[in-house]
Amino acid sequence: MTEIRDLLVETRSFPPPPAFAAQAHINDRRLHDAADADFIQYWAEQAATLRWTKPWDRVLDWQPPHAQWFLGGQLNVSANCLDRHLDGARRNKAAIVWEGEPGDRRTLTYWELAREVRTFANVLKGLGVQKGDRVGIYLPLVPEAAIAMLACARIGAIHSVVFGGFSPESLRDRMNDAQAKVVITADGGYRRGQIVPLKRNTDKALEECPTVKHVVVVQRRTSGPITEAHVDMKEGRDHWYHRLMQHANDQCAPEPMDAEDVLFILYTSGTTGKPKGIVHTTGGYLTGAASSTKMVFDLKEEDVFWCTADVGWITGHTYLVYGPLANGATCVMYEGAPDWPERDRFWSIIARHGVTVFYTAPTAIRAFMKWGVEHPRRHDLSTLRLLGSVGEPINPEAWMWYQEHIGGNRCPVVDTWWQTETGSIVISPLPGLTATKPGSATQPLPGYSAKLMDAQANELTSGGGLLVLTKPWPSMLRTIWGDDARYVETYFSKWAGRPDLYFAGDGAKLDADGFFWLLGRVDDVLNVAGHRIGTMEVESALVEHPAVAEAAVVGKAHELKGQAVCAFVTLRDGFHKSSELRDDLREFVAKKIGALARPDDVLFSADLPKTRSGKIMRRLLRDIAEGRALGDTTTLADPNVVAALKEQYEKDE
Ligand code: ATP
Ligand code: MG
Repeated sequence: MTEIRDLLVETRSFPPPPAFAAQAHINDRRLHDAADADFIQYWAEQAATLRWTKPWDRVLDWQPPHAQWFLGGQLNVSANCLDRHLDGARRNKAAIVWEGEPGDRRTLTYWELAREVRTFANVLKGLGVQKGDRVGIYLPLVPEAAIAMLACARIGAIHSVVFGGFSPESLRDRMNDAQAKVVITADGGYRRGQIVPLKRNTDKALEECPTVKHVVVVQRRTSGPITEAHVDMKEGRDHWYHRLMQHANDQCAPEPMDAEDVLFILYTSGTTGKPKGIVHTTGGYLTGAASSTKMVFDLKEEDVFWCTADVGWITGHTYLVYGPLANGATCVMYEGAPDWPERDRFWSIIARHGVTVFYTAPTAIRAFMKWGVEHPRRHDLSTLRLLGSVGEPINPEAWMWYQEHIGGNRCPVVDTWWQTETGSIVISPLPGLTATKPGSATQPLPGYSAKLMDAQANELTSGGGLLVLTKPWPSMLRTIWGDDARYVETYFSKWAGRPDLYFAGDGAKLDADGFFWLLGRVDDVLNVAGHRIGTMEVESALVEHPAVAEAAVVGKAHELKGQAVCAFVTLRDGFHKSSELRDDLREFVAKKIGALARPDDVLFSADLPKTRSGKIMRRLLRDIAEGRALGDTTTLADPNVVAALKEQYEKDE
């Protein structure tokens, strides 16, 4: 049984503000119509907006489940993100406007960024890096992270970025999986006022990484407390970035790359289990990144675009680096935490740099709600014209809060569904065209074919089911690094005999307008008395209660019902746990969406276990609720949270 119950009814709808629609890149269905008529031709037209040094012979070769796009074509990603903008007025435009957590700032124009990238490309060559070699990037969110990525792209090296918050073990595993030759790191970075000892972590990781021959160390210069004392340089292996840069030539022609050459490997967030090394290639990936950035964020020459994701995640790859730079946009980059030194840091950044388009995650929005509206109110957010959300389903109440308190009821909100595997946004409103609904990612972008299916691959046109992509797309993953069998098994084996159907792993429902509502991971779906319920709907009902900041629900084995609903809840500032509140929440859910979904248990918690990219890890909550040993915890942001929860749960039982 795969039908998922459709419980929550949300009827609010917001057409694009007329003034926004009038100036938007897209405000009619012509692109959709063209893509529906011939999706291959549509993608060829999108790809043609890039600079190719050799035209492709064939747009698509689809041997399910393996696709190749733009065969025979050649291009270079760094040339598309940089050189293309140097001929005209954009050469002096800010490419990256950066703020460090301690308050230091830097701005790099396209001209300057291009020079740094060419120089660092020569540094890498000098260390023996060749086309096809793998390079690890383990940096704080500083401009050098983008420089390193683009320098790899320039010479055809494959980067594997590892989020700077990950442990030495995680770095070690990722470097070994990719057989990396060089690692680029820093003496340290800042997070909530603490120094993250990146070089020390790297040293520890490299004790067991035999393929890594060289380490380049960026000096995170500030007036703050990082000093040379944090760093032990190993003779022959370790090199200071600034010294190598001083001696390297600043001219470096871009390597012509085949469209299907690998651009990077990136590991998934690890929400549902062991992370997968997703492989993206050159031509298709950049086509998806560049076109979606322009459409979804309605990006214009004068925009200041801030995507708050770290480059350690796909969102940082596609919407902090490759997508915006391919469009010649100005991007804001911020190193640190949203509550450092105060809970208004994001709003002060928006006001300081005149951010016009802001893209963040539901986990952050729920934290802002919890902290209260006084923080955004202290700042002038009037430059904002468009807001985006990504990473998890956004609860309708959080969406409404975002639209009202950050967007001033003037900015469209785009809830963008996509994955590391899809490379770029797949389902999202087009802000000048789509009437948005709080909690719905709305409809697939032009060129994508997203459908809802049951376990027999029958297409569903209403209610809940499995989200499927039925046609290949340019920025799709090509394989899992070193494990093609896992690629086939994970993504294309859900329906026997249908290797053409991409199984996303998420449940969704379709409403009467054909809009998609993401219901959560299929692995997390609850099964109560024979009814399958998505986690999202119960959680959204809980979040609607004025006391609740964030909620996660899981199913717990139950003798009669199969599973009982177990809710973990964090409260908004000013509310306290009590048995009355517990009963109130149980009834609130029952009233809102039905007695079926009434939680048996409600556990109040100071925090929820999350991945380092901020996603709730329900599988660990399930382990706790069912009294099992915890599964893979290597991607957890803070292991103390689960340990404390487990203890509390066992005490309360
Ligand atoms: P892993 O695959 O290792 O378990 P992950 O799926 O969290 O980790 P990502 O690729 O970072 O790794 O996240 C993609 C997932 O995030 C999607 O499959 C979906 O579950 C969720 N997601 C992303 N954006 C949205 C959105 N706008 N609405 C609902 N869910 C979203
Ligand atoms: Mg996933």
